[in-house]
Amino acid sequence: MTRRMWRTPELRSSYDVIIVGGGAHGLATAYYLAKMGVRNVAVLEARFVGYGGSGRNTAILRSNYRTEEGIRFYDQSLRLYERLAGELDFNLMFSQQGHFTLGHSESSMNTLMTRAEINKSVGVESTILSPPEIKRRVPEIDISDHPRYPIMGALYHPPGGIIRHDAVVWAYARGADRLGVDIHNQTPVQKIVIENNRVQGVVTNRGTVRSGKVLTALAGWTSELCGPTGVKLPLVTYPLQALVTEPYKPWLHHVIVSSNLHIYLSQTDRGELVCGDGIDGYPHYGMRSTLGFLESYAAHFLELFPALHKMKVMRQWAGLCDMTPDYSPIISPIEAIEGFYINCGWGTYGFKAAPASGLNSARMIAEGKVPEIIRPFHYNRFQENRLVGEKAAASVSS
Ligand SMILES: Cc1cc2nc3c(=O)[nH]c(=O)nc-3n(C[C@H](O)[C@H](O)[C@H](O)COP(=O)(O)OP(=O)(O)OC[C@H]3O[C@@H](n4cnc5c(N)ncnc54)[C@H](O)[C@@H]3O)c2cc1C
Repeated sequence: MTRRMWRTPELRSSYDVIIVGGGAHGLATAYYLAKMGVRNVAVLEARFVGYGGSGRNTAILRSNYRTEEGIRFYDQSLRLYERLAGELDFNLMFSQQGHFTLGHSESSMNTLMTRAEINKSVGVESTILSPPEIKRRVPEIDISDHPRYPIMGALYHPPGGIIRHDAVVWAYARGADRLGVDIHNQTPVQKIVIENNRVQGVVTNRGTVRSGKVLTALAGWTSELCGPTGVKLPLVTYPLQALVTEPYKPWLHHVIVSSNLHIYLSQTDRGELVCGDGIDGYPHYGMRSTLGFLESYAAHFLELFPALHKMKVMRQWAGLCDMTPDYSPIISPIEAIEGFYINCGWGTYGFKAAPASGLNSARMIAEGKVPEIIRPFHYNRFQENRLVGEKAAASVSS
């Protein structure tokens, strides 16, 4: 008989730790908390695990960011991902096939060269390739001067790649459940209860649940729940769209990103191309995909791969992205409210961060102090003007 992936436990009246949001970040935090021996932990999810960005992303993993703080953090995450299938005993289909960021202008080449040097200085593999070197690895790509923006070079990051996003969510959920975490789907949190500057619990559609420690891991929905607590977060939610094509026999063996053309793509083991571009032009909570996205994606995609003009699109969708001004996350206790922790600001690039985010969030909650590696991502950096500027490495290139 097939074993259930996780239990459907009774909702208790109190938990030691409540995590709001059953995406990769909430589930990873719950898993690592339980692994550290913290008991009586619950994940409260409004719909079902993986409903948000964690079930809608294009599953690109890499660590070649722009700042030392960012590179160190994402590199820790990539290292955790490398061991995750074994640790959680689940096939995550992680393929470290190499990640190209194409440059089509002098200014973007300057940015890519700067990133290559900073990455190398931190010990992360990254190098600049010329157009013929790109063509050798991706023979189908057009490096001629026919496109409006010819390819001038690329930042190549060998450890980057793709993973099966649903599998990551399910594996963390099953791993957490096996260690005793209660996962409650269909349990939207309506309010975080705060009295005398301390978290007291949460109000849900199934009643009030007491807890002295609450972490929100809500990505695009963070402002909805955290806004009423009075905590000011510089987040703006935008939709991000993606699509998959019909399957072709495997021909693309690397992740290709063009930040000038605002597109990226990779090929799954099933042969489909998984494709995406930048966030929509205006803030929104809608999760419907648009014709405008399809048209603009197709136009730019054909500049890179004109031979694929007959390829058909099978489906397209959208998810919500919680953008911060510096394109870096917020993982932080809210000091003014005891027991309140926030994990958000994952924008278009947070899936790759889930293991490091979960591990360090768990340490922050269990040990009561913020681990060194996530200190730069404290929410007070916006008041103190200590931004961790990652726009050059985070936008479009997921
Ligand atoms: C199209 C697209 C492509 C992307 N591609 C990449 C990529 O290639 N690589 C990458 O690293 N990142 C990518 N991202 C970003 C990535 O998906 C997100 O940053 C990441 O999944 C955020 O995870 P999370 O666990 O923080 O939030 P989510 O997965 O969004 O989970 C939040 C959960 O909270 C729940 N929730 C909401 N309100 C409540 C409430 N009141 N009570 C209880 N639960 C609630 C939601 O139902 C949801 O399940 C992409 C995003 C999109 C949309």
